[in-house]
Amino acid sequence: MAKATIKDLELKGKRVFIRVDFNVPVKNGVVTDDNRIVSALPTINFALEHGARVVLASHRGRPEGRGFEEEYSMRPVYLRLKKDFGDNIFYSEKVIGEEVVTKSRELKEGQLLLIENLRFDRGEKKGDVEFARKLRELSDLYVNDAFGTCHRKDTSVYVLPTLFEKPVAGFLIEKEVHYFENVLSNPERPYIAILGGAKVSDKIPVIENLLNKVDAILIGGAMAYTFLKAKGVDIGKSILELDMIELAESLMKKAEKKGVDFILPVDHVVTDKVENGTVEISLGESIKDGFLGVDIGPETIVKFKEKIKQSKTVVWNGPMGIFEIEEFSAGTFAIAGAIAECQCTSVVGGGDSASAVRKAGVLDKISHVSTGGGASLEYLAGKKLPGIEVLAEKES
Ligand code: ADP
Ligand code: MG
Repeated sequence: MAKATIKDLELKGKRVFIRVDFNVPVKNGVVTDDNRIVSALPTINFALEHGARVVLASHRGRPEGRGFEEEYSMRPVYLRLKKDFGDNIFYSEKVIGEEVVTKSRELKEGQLLLIENLRFDRGEKKGDVEFARKLRELSDLYVNDAFGTCHRKDTSVYVLPTLFEKPVAGFLIEKEVHYFENVLSNPERPYIAILGGAKVSDKIPVIENLLNKVDAILIGGAMAYTFLKAKGVDIGKSILELDMIELAESLMKKAEKKGVDFILPVDHVVTDKVENGTVEISLGESIKDGFLGVDIGPETIVKFKEKIKQSKTVVWNGPMGIFEIEEFSAGTFAIAGAIAECQCTSVVGGGDSASAVRKAGVLDKISHVSTGGGASLEYLAGKKLPGIEVLAEKES
């Protein structure tokens, strides 16, 4: 990667601010999914092993900057981190100010301090230089490993780094960038993108960018119906974005011009009601009146699996159906399984897609499952992420 990383810093004895993405779900005071915490451990451990005194900071949820709120507290994260760091980790209820600065100064080499939710201060969301200066007092060095926040211009990822001589990336960002750059600039072919999820409108920039790169685009999920409608296929009462039909048509034309295979479902799992309805398989691509499509059908699964099997690079974003409901999850899990089995470089982006991969139990068989929902979509859309742009270049 062209950006400097934590390996380019002299860490010994220094206070190191590591901006992490610990925006994890909590229930009854306990972290229920620690994937994001585990993903940041390589960077944290590297810093500690090299004699750093680490200050950890993240946001969690969307408090409105009115100070401490129990619901969004980092305390459950602190308790989870104690499993790894025992008595070497400390907690500060304050985000900025004299008390927390003192705590940071008291850290010994190999010790950590987790500060409270950055968004308890309204300065975090506002790109506020004053708030950034206050955070600056907590450390000598700056590392960003919060990939999931890098598409935002929040103070701790966009302003704070500019106050350091050499702000660098951690290993998680390095890994994310490595895989996204690989599929965006240097993919092995055949190269396919599988796109699904709720809305066409959410994914237009992703489709447009990938159209310039891939050999084939496979469409599933709710967005497939807008494309089918644009082709004149009956879609019953499936989710339709009326104002997207024209664009859907022009995207398919563009694909044809570029020689990109644009593949839509050839059958569907359909129902008359999402809850407790009659569930059927459609006959072919059209859906009868009164029914809506909720998953790709068995023939589509076979077709998609065949395409995946032949590919050397696969990018996947967006579930193939309402996978949260077991009856409508077969398509999504079959695709997850096929990607896991394929001899290819596979990258999965999107929050729900990542959770589908986890639910399918194939997380470690995918080359890279991004920890960033929104950030991964912006990356796939070909946009630069502000929080990464602002980091120092590697010296050659
Ligand atoms: P990601 O977070 O991976 O980018 P999205 O947020 O775009 O994915 O889409 C995920 C959502 O799309 C899921 O909640 C899923 O239930 C929904 N979805 C997929 N297919 C359908 C469908 N046919 N009808 C309604 N909702 C669907
Ligand atoms: Mg989503």
